[in-house]
Amino acid sequence: MPIAVSPERPRTGVTRFTGGYLVKDNKLVEEDLWISSVTGKILCKQEVFYDYHVVPDEVIDLKGKILAPGFIDVQLNGAFGFDFSTVPQDIAVYQKGLKQLNKQLIRTGVTSYLPTLPSQKAEVYHQTLPYLGPSGASRNASEGSESLGAHCEGPFIASSKCGIHSPSVLQTAPNGFPDFEACYGAANLSPDRIALITTAPELPGIAPSIPELTSRGIRVALGHTEATYETATTALQAGATMLTHLFNAMQPLHHRNPGPFGTLGKTSGAERPYFGIIADGIHLHPTTVKIAWTAHPDGFVLVTDAMKTLGLPDGLYDWTNGDRWEKKGARLTREGTDTLAGSCATLGECLENFWEWSGASLAEVVRSVTATPAAMLGLQGVKGTLEEGADADLVVLEGREVAGRKKVGVEQVWKFGVRVCDGDDDDE
Ligand SMILES: [Zn+2]
Repeated sequence: MPIAVSPERPRTGVTRFTGGYLVKDNKLVEEDLWISSVTGKILCKQEVFYDYHVVPDEVIDLKGKILAPGFIDVQLNGAFGFDFSTVPQDIAVYQKGLKQLNKQLIRTGVTSYLPTLPSQKAEVYHQTLPYLGPSGASRNASEGSESLGAHCEGPFIASSKCGIHSPSVLQTAPNGFPDFEACYGAANLSPDRIALITTAPELPGIAPSIPELTSRGIRVALGHTEATYETATTALQAGATMLTHLFNAMQPLHHRNPGPFGTLGKTSGAERPYFGIIADGIHLHPTTVKIAWTAHPDGFVLVTDAMKTLGLPDGLYDWTNGDRWEKKGARLTREGTDTLAGSCATLGECLENFWEWSGASLAEVVRSVTATPAAMLGLQGVKGTLEEGADADLVVLEGREVAGRKKVGVEQVWKFGVRVCDGDDDDE
């Protein structure tokens, strides 16, 4: 795929992509893209080519393939055997495991993500959050996938909707915001550590704490909740902006009480939330996914909710509370039950499913793992886009039909303007 250029000329750090399609504004457009490994950003074509006559170090012939922004997963509990919530005795082991995960995760096309902690005791947050904040400051592509801050899913959630969360660690916040500080650690309640908190707004003290959380730059999602349509609306008015894994662990749609899902039908933009969808083929029926997409495409965010067993072989695995999980393909359940315990599908597999089920174009589908999660996190123009000045986190995709089913191959992954994974030399 790469085309060699003369070795004598001084290197500029510039790469030009040509001969393919860019994902831009919900469309595939036939354009070139210029990026820099020096700045790690997408360059202004006018400047590099016409004004300064920059010659690229490398020209990538896409051969009709698609160049898209790198994927963003806002709900990932672990992968490749590493679990963000499991703290070993030696914290150096945790740091090493995190580094390895980042290097493996990026090969799946996920160039940035929110490391997610399901409900824990306070001490686990105090031990782990200092390592889970945004990790891209060095802009070093060799570090792999980049954390954009932690996602704390609980422990301020409804015990009746706790799923696989440990009921013994769940909390309410009778004292309001100070209870959040005591739980997560006051120093951790900053976007330097936490990007997103999932909580149940009907619990004592939660709704009044939402403005305090959002004023610090932390996003608030509603999830694992008994909230009615009215309670969810009030929480959105208070500053919450997201529904965590829509339909799962919340009130279903009823024609006289539409539940949190009903907020997708609001007409006011400020109250109309983003929402996570697990399109692993197990958590939701394909038609349910399509209804959510049709109801509010601009809020639709695909998430994996993947566990540490993502990328591992099928079998039985230990869970932190002494239970065991059974992994069978993309399905993960508590041993001997049908209780779903997150997922084992990659974001690319979820993307394929969603493309197959939705009838949307590939460019529209890609938005749900790029521009929309970036917008939810307030990172428009920085992540999830091929606009000039954005970070050059990229994937080369090949969309095709195999035996009547839509497939999306991740052929190359680029991070901060540097190629970190190439399908041609990849054994996975
Ligand atoms: Zn959950």
